[in-house]
Amino acid sequence: MNKRKLGFDETLGKNVVSANRCVGCATCVVVCPFSCLNYEDGQPRLVKDCEECGICPRVCPKFNWSWSEAEEFVFGRRRRADEDFGISRKLILAQASDEEIRKKGQDGGFVTALLIHSHNEGIIEGAALAGHTEGKPFYPSPLLATTSQQILRSSGTRYTYSPNMLALKEAVTEKKSLAFVGTPCQVHAVRKIQMFPLKKYAAPLQFTVGLMCTESFTYKGLFEEELGRNLNVKLNDIRKMNIKGKILIHLKSGVTEEISLSDVKKYVRPSCHNCSDFSAELADISAGGLGLNGWTFVVVRTEKGEEIFNSALDAEALVIRQVEEEPFALKLLSKLTKRKLKNAPR
Ligand SMILES: Cc1cc2nc3c(=O)[nH]c(=O)nc-3n(C[C@H](O)[C@H](O)[C@H](O)COP(=O)(O)OP(=O)(O)OC[C@H]3O[C@@H](n4cnc5c(N)ncnc54)[C@H](O)[C@@H]3O)c2cc1C
Repeated sequence: MNKRKLGFDETLGKNVVSANRCVGCATCVVVCPFSCLNYEDGQPRLVKDCEECGICPRVCPKFNWSWSEAEEFVFGRRRRADEDFGISRKLILAQASDEEIRKKGQDGGFVTALLIHSHNEGIIEGAALAGHTEGKPFYPSPLLATTSQQILRSSGTRYTYSPNMLALKEAVTEKKSLAFVGTPCQVHAVRKIQMFPLKKYAAPLQFTVGLMCTESFTYKGLFEEELGRNLNVKLNDIRKMNIKGKILIHLKSGVTEEISLSDVKKYVRPSCHNCSDFSAELADISAGGLGLNGWTFVVVRTEKGEEIFNSALDAEALVIRQVEEEPFALKLLSKLTKRKLKNAPR
């Protein structure tokens, strides 16, 4: 007898979306072979009768998620007790050797340098990342960047959610090999696609770069309300934003405004409160700012990640320093990891 497959409503609809656990990664929308789902207001919505093919529950990072299965799949083993921020091969501080990339990048421009190098070397034909939105400063739009210029233009952090998975769909349609850049929850979704495996979507993926992430904010709350109304800053006047213990808003005029993180906690996306992964523990390479100035803290985790990292280093696309030179950054990595685990125990 054929076992009935489960549809969207009784799996993700009930247990993830209605339970306020949906991270908004859009993976279910991307993989639905019958186009039953639309991505609306940061969430999936059924727009026609579900065909109950059973695919979407298998790729959702918030449904039937198992850390042990995921770690076994990515690393071939479970973490040891002392590997508190996940399995890794190397911890290093890195920055782009190219000055323009360094200037445009969020921290050391490492992610952008790595992607541009991989693109120039033919390792990837594109990268799924967060592009910009015309007329809406700091509002990210998922983009399949297929040129070095597009990758460079998309550097820097937008502290709101960018469902970069939507750009994976484009890569599949265009048959392009790619790197995936995303927050920890998005990396989980990539791993679920690979573990399934959903070959059509897994095949083009060459490597994943995970961005360390305490939380992301709603655009309406952080940008429109807090910056636009309370601080009275025109979004077009902002040169760069960074979070280093507090939110720093560097204006084009040279002035830097500050907002305390406690003042903007109310704008944190609800699903971030259920997240236990600060440092993108399942990515091939993780990258974060960790209080550093002009450098990216890099965690090389997998063999593939090490191969790509070494290739960029050998080509002199990167400059490196040892993490021991900045002990506070390593301490902060442990502290933020523990804080997230405490908020959302595994
Ligand atoms: C929402 C969010 C919260 C973060 N919180 C922390 C934190 O608490 N502590 C910490 O140490 N680091 C945090 N980071 C990571 C940090 O901001 C930098 O992305 C990281 O240090 C890499 O810097 P870089 O200069 O090497 O990257 P860059 O070379 O500037 O490249 C950054 C890449 O990230 C992509 N990107 C930008 N915004 C987003 C987004 N919203 N979603 C997905 N991709 C995006 C860009 O398209 C680009 O490819 C956060 C990042 C995000 C997106």
